[in-house]
Amino acid sequence: MILVTGGAGYIGSHTVLTLLQHGHDVLVLDNLCNSSAEAIHRVNRLTGKNARLIEGDIRNRALLDQILGEHPIRAVIHFAGLKAVGESVQKPLAYYDNNVGGSITLIEAMQAAGVKNLVFSSSATVYGEQGGAREYTETMPLGVPSSPYGKTKVMIETILGDTAHADPAWTIALLRYFNPVGAHESGDIGEDPQGIPNNLVPYISQVAVGRLERLAVYGDDYDTPDGTCLRDYIHVMDLAAGHVKALEHIADKTGVYTWNLGSGTGSSVLDVVRAYEKACGKAIPYTIAPRRAGDLPAFWANPEKAARELGWRTERSLDDMMADTWRWQAKNPQGYR
Ligand code: NAD
Ligand code: UDP
Repeated sequence: MILVTGGAGYIGSHTVLTLLQHGHDVLVLDNLCNSSAEAIHRVNRLTGKNARLIEGDIRNRALLDQILGEHPIRAVIHFAGLKAVGESVQKPLAYYDNNVGGSITLIEAMQAAGVKNLVFSSSATVYGEQGGAREYTETMPLGVPSSPYGKTKVMIETILGDTAHADPAWTIALLRYFNPVGAHESGDIGEDPQGIPNNLVPYISQVAVGRLERLAVYGDDYDTPDGTCLRDYIHVMDLAAGHVKALEHIADKTGVYTWNLGSGTGSSVLDVVRAYEKACGKAIPYTIAPRRAGDLPAFWANPEKAARELGWRTERSLDDMMADTWRWQAKNPQGYR
C-alpha cells in the first residue's frame, strides 16, 4: 500500500488515479486546506477502485504513527505542502512550519515505523538562477530560490539527503517538476485554485469561462523570441506517470535519486494563450503588464536523466494540455464547489 500525503490536491489526485490504474492500493492523508474530498470520490468513480481518504495533518505525529502502524505501507509519496509563491513571501513562518516542519514530522514517523521509501514533490525552483543558464540539469548545484516557498524545497531536499546519508536503508526520489498544467482527459478532475489564481493556466481558464475579465501578461520585453517568458509546461497526467515510474524504480534500491520531470521545451506566455484559444474556440483578452518580481526570463528541463533511468518522457503536447484544461474548466466552471 502507498501512502499519498496531499493526495486530494491537484497533482496528488491525478497521481492517485494513475497509481490505482497500475494496481497499487492507496491511502491518502490530506488536511483539505487547499483541496476537496470530492477529488478522491471522483478518482474512485473514474477508476472503479477505492482509495481511502484520511482527513488529517502531516504535522500530527500521533496520527502518522497510527496510520503507519495500522496499514502495510511500503512507500510514501509526499505532496502535502503549501505552494503559493507570493503568499510565502507574506507568511514565511506558515510555509516553513507546514512544508519543512511537516516533512520532518513525516520523516521521523517513517523512520520510527521502518518505512524508508519516499518520493518527494520538489520543483525546478530549487535551481535558482544558475548564472543565466536556461536548461536545467540535475548535476547543477542547488541554487537560491527567490521565495520562502522555493527555499522550503531546497531545505527539504537537503534534509532528505542528510537523512539518507545517516541511514543508508532509505530510498528517496526527489522529483523536480517544471510547470504542471492540464487535467485528466475525462474533465472530471483538475486544478481548483481557491481565490484568484496566481498561475498562468488557471488564470486563463477563469478568463475563458468569464470569471475573470482579462489576463495580464507579465512583461513582453524579455530576451526571448516573442519577448514573454518561457516555461516548460508538463501535462499533469505525464507528471503522474513519472511518479509511478519513480516509485517502481526505487522499490529495490537505496540512496537518493533526483529526476527532472519536464518536457525539455520552453513555451512562451503567448504560445500558451494561443493554444488555449484554439482549445476553447474563443479569444482570451489580455494586456501587457509590467514584469512580475522574481520571474526568470526562461528555463526548461533537460529531461534525459529520467528518460534514460526511468524510461519516462512526456507524451502530451501543449495543445493536449490546453484541451484537457478547457474540458475540466468547462465541465466544472466553479471547480469542485
Ligand atoms: P495542491 O495544493 O493542490 O496540493 C497539496 C495538497 O496538500 C492539498 O490537497 C492540501 O490540502 C494538502 N496539504 C497541505 N498542507 C498539508 C498538511 N500540513 N497536512 C496534510 N495535507 C496538507 O498543490 P499541487 O499543485 O498538487 O502540489 C503538490 C506538491 O507539488 C506540493 O508539494 C507542491 O509544492 C509541489 N509542486 C507543485 C508545483 C505546481 O506548479 N503545482 C510545481 C512544483 C512542485
Ligand atoms: N504569467 C503571466 N500572467 C499571469 C500569471 C503568470 O504572464 O497572470 C506568466 C509568468 O510571468 C511566467 C509564466 O506565466 O512567465 C508562468 O507563471 P506561473 O505563475 O504559472 O508559473 P511559474 O513559472 O512562475 O512558477
